[in-house]
Amino acid sequence: MDFELSEEQKIFQTACRRFFAKELLPIVDELESANEFPTDFYRFCGRHGYLGINLPEKYGGSDADTITCSILIEEISRINAGFGGTVWTGSMGGPLIIDLGTEEQQEECLPGLTTGERLIALALTEPNAGSDTAGIQTTAREDGDYYVINGSKTFITNGAVADKHIVVAYADKSKGYKGIEMFLVDFDMPGVHVTKKLDKLGWRSSETVELVYEDVRIPKKSKLGTRGLAGALDLINCGRILMAASAVGLAQAAFEVCFKYTQEREAFGQPLAGFQVIKHELAKMKMQTETGRLLVRHASWRHDKGLPHRKECAYVKYYCGEMVKEVTSKALQMFGGYGYMNEFPISRYLRDAQVYTIADGASDILIEIVAREIGLN
Ligand SMILES: Cc1cc2nc3c(=O)[nH]c(=O)nc-3n(C[C@H](O)[C@H](O)[C@H](O)COP(=O)(O)OP(=O)(O)OC[C@H]3O[C@@H](n4cnc5c(N)ncnc54)[C@H](O)[C@@H]3O)c2cc1C
Repeated sequence: MDFELSEEQKIFQTACRRFFAKELLPIVDELESANEFPTDFYRFCGRHGYLGINLPEKYGGSDADTITCSILIEEISRINAGFGGTVWTGSMGGPLIIDLGTEEQQEECLPGLTTGERLIALALTEPNAGSDTAGIQTTAREDGDYYVINGSKTFITNGAVADKHIVVAYADKSKGYKGIEMFLVDFDMPGVHVTKKLDKLGWRSSETVELVYEDVRIPKKSKLGTRGLAGALDLINCGRILMAASAVGLAQAAFEVCFKYTQEREAFGQPLAGFQVIKHELAKMKMQTETGRLLVRHASWRHDKGLPHRKECAYVKYYCGEMVKEVTSKALQMFGGYGYMNEFPISRYLRDAQVYTIADGASDILIEIVAREIGLN
């Protein structure tokens, strides 16, 4: 395995770093306090080629591999993890429709994703079922040439701005988990209601809502795929790699500001970085971040090669989620009282970090997957 990025990937990484430092950094505070989907900036990124890079050229993408996608999400999250979350979630629906959708569904859903004019949200989690997918209560009842969708969903990223929702629902409860299917629902259909915009601890540059689907009638051809939710396994795995990449970007940012601050801040007649205990903590933060990045690259590589990667995706997400919480917590400690003040980015880093052990596979669930994958049934 070659650990070097290709020349193309290096050029892309440099371009991303420059672009988001120039365009996103100056508006981070504005986006964070708005606490809503940043439509203008999202489309601006689309115009500069940073959205839907994983889509085929036919739909405006560049067929980017997972390593390249992870570079993008890491670099955005280094500046603002919340916007990283917005872009990451926004990039998930397209590949699912490529993998499972009919030609007609692809033609209908994919144009406009790379420009940011259109967006797809993934609506799986419900007020009473998150980790326990089989516990969802949303149903899709057959009625002639239609399905009628009823249920409520929560914590849905981009749910109020996406024009298409991939709604996960029971088509046949008697089949248990195998009866769960995915359906394409237009946001403007009668019966789709945003019931609440959620106020979050972190990731405030992404918008998260609660939704109700009330007797939403969709044509039968709107069912996505033929293998039920199991057909989305590859997407779920890939999503976890990119979520981990976002955690790495955030940890990198925390390390960098601490590295600089501890050289400048003096105590007892010397810079903080002169104390061995601080030096060692910085060294550990660096090692943890690098380890996370290597796990991201490894899982991405396996995914891109078509090698089995379920276990790797679980442990990269587990490791990076726990790692970013530890790194940002150490960072706040190094900043002392200033770390606790909102005028410095450190407190935002700590708030943002909490999501990585919850969303897209909570740590307890991931460790359970790893245990099963290594034969501990
Ligand atoms: C900011 C944000 C954005 C999100 N975006 C989306 C989105 O776009 N679409 C979407 O569908 N969902 C989204 N989610 C939902 C997310 O995926 C869920 O929060 C996650 O799956 C966990 O489910 P839950 O919150 O219901 O927690 P629960 O499943 O209720 O778990 C609560 C706690 O119990 C633990 N636990 C659960 N089961 C077990 C077990 N068997 N053994 C040990 N411990 C266990 C969990 O680890 C967790 O710590 C988002 C969440 C957040 C916070």
